[in-house]
Amino acid sequence: MSNSSLVWFRQDLRQADNAALAAAAAKGPVIPVYILDNETPGEWRWGGASRWWLHHSLQKFAAKIPLVLKRGRSEIVLEKLLRDSGAKALHFTRDYAPWSAALEQRVKALCDRLGVACHRHGGFLLHEPETIRNGMGEVYKVYTPFSRACFAKGDPPPARPVPQLSFAVAPSGDDLAAWNLTPQKPDWAAGFLENWQPGEAGAQQALVKFLDDALAHYAEGRDRPDKNFTSRLSPHLHWGEISPRQVWTATRQAMAAAHGRLDAGGEKFLKEVLWREFSYHLLHLFPQLPDQPFKAEFADFPWIEDRAVLKTWQKGQTGFPIVDAGMRELWATGIMHNRVRMIVASFLVKDLLIPWQRGARWFWDTLVDADIASNSASWQWVAGCGADAAPYYRIFNPVLQGQKFDPDGDYVRRWIPELSDVPAVSIHAPWEMSNTPRAYPKPMLDHGAARTRALQALKDMKRNLE
Ligand code: FAD
Repeated sequence: MSNSSLVWFRQDLRQADNAALAAAAAKGPVIPVYILDNETPGEWRWGGASRWWLHHSLQKFAAKIPLVLKRGRSEIVLEKLLRDSGAKALHFTRDYAPWSAALEQRVKALCDRLGVACHRHGGFLLHEPETIRNGMGEVYKVYTPFSRACFAKGDPPPARPVPQLSFAVAPSGDDLAAWNLTPQKPDWAAGFLENWQPGEAGAQQALVKFLDDALAHYAEGRDRPDKNFTSRLSPHLHWGEISPRQVWTATRQAMAAAHGRLDAGGEKFLKEVLWREFSYHLLHLFPQLPDQPFKAEFADFPWIEDRAVLKTWQKGQTGFPIVDAGMRELWATGIMHNRVRMIVASFLVKDLLIPWQRGARWFWDTLVDADIASNSASWQWVAGCGADAAPYYRIFNPVLQGQKFDPDGDYVRRWIPELSDVPAVSIHAPWEMSNTPRAYPKPMLDHGAARTRALQALKDMKRNLE
């Protein structure tokens, strides 16, 4: 067993285009391991929907390779595994969460102590955070020049196929069911499997379906929650069931094969994939991103803490149909369309003046794609306190947003049965109908007044800074 290597899987639950797995496999037998570490991330341990996804993804992965499941602090588990197995090398994919740099250093020190070769690989991102810098050698804080710099680097090299694998005899691991990752009473995730197919095969299917059916409509259709014109790849990318390089390369190939017909959709889609990169580069620059405003002055913003109001928003009972549809979609499926995420987030931080961190927390617990970089950066973007953010004074009107992006009301009707009979003309402001649907709540506030209050709060923050 002397030439065996331990492969520590993290958010790279795939066999293809996995540099860590390929490097280990090239050297000899492999011991694949996944560690459920609830301690190192502290309060950012996986939320409920993430745990649901993780369960199904690990189940699929373990059906393909003899994955050893262990629970505990990563470096303690790794030490025991390395000692028990006699593996001569450890391979893993780099992770960029705020606690990961220190963890990876501790793991390196552990390997040095045990005389085990330690190899960290890339692959979760297209570009390592250290490699995209402006002319001054600084990290980009604005998305557009960042994305230009990424495009200027050219397309990534082709993705790697699944390597030839042999497996070493491994120490025994846990039973996945014993981890209790899926909810039982109540089983709030009952509807999730209708919507998702976690795992590497599901990720590839989602990619192919998107490129075949939706890419052609992506440029003009991606903002429409009533249509299926986005890829739904975010949870697969988050868990590394597919690499951004596989997504990039397949998109480029589809564009080339379509002789220009897919160029508009393809370019727009690749730019969105770069928002994910941008979020990670920002997190690397500012590891406090999940908790603290990037623009420090927002620490003094006069937010209002109100649990009852927060709950009304969480439950989709605000009385604003597009907001409530989004929150109910999230609860039922673990996902929410990007445009609707912007609308519900704006409603929380501007109409309700609830701190953005409360919304980000709720998303962390309920999204199957909950991602420490994209979620934090996006909430800060909406709240106006992020690096390259929408200005706080730009406040979404939920009625106009609904009318523009769900013009027939199909999205709202799908998620709010109380409004199933309301015609398109009234669907985004049902309180204006003479026979207002009784089962649906009245709007919890007057948007015009809320807007004025939000702008005043911004003024107050600025005055306090003078
Ligand atoms: P597509 O439109 O098909 O885009 C392709 C891929 O590009 C996505 O899968 C995703 O990886 C990436 N991407 C697209 N838009 C963004 C963006 N604005 N920021 C970062 N990456 C992006 N995305 C997450 O993956 N996890 C989160 O926790 C998350 N939280 C968000 C919170 C708020 C308040 C907002 C406004 C956005 C959030 N997003 C988050 C970004 C975006 O909403 C999702 O990535 C997108 O809706 C996923 O659907 P899709 O895969 O069909 O996207």
